[in-house]
Amino acid sequence: MFEGFSFRGGAEALARIAGMFTTVVLGWYALKRYIAIMQVAERYARRSICARCKAYGAFRLLRERPPTGARCRCGNEWTID
Ligand SMILES: [Zn+2]
Repeated sequence: MFEGFSFRGGAEALARIAGMFTTVVLGWYALKRYIAIMQVAERYARRSICARCKAYGAFRLLRERPPTGARCRCGNEWTID
């Protein structure tokens, strides 16, 4: 995997280290962003159950921007924040 890697290359080795560092930073940022998006999705999933009829996901959104309102087919309304 690291057969071609050497610290004797001078500028080339420095460029490789900079590339690896950049890759690690971008990977860390992408992972943190993915986890944040999954937490929002989990929170929305928990709030997608109607308190009156217990239907899951059987609602229409009343607003697109948070706090998002929801109306179930049974007529119950609640806020998904
Ligand atoms: Zn309902």
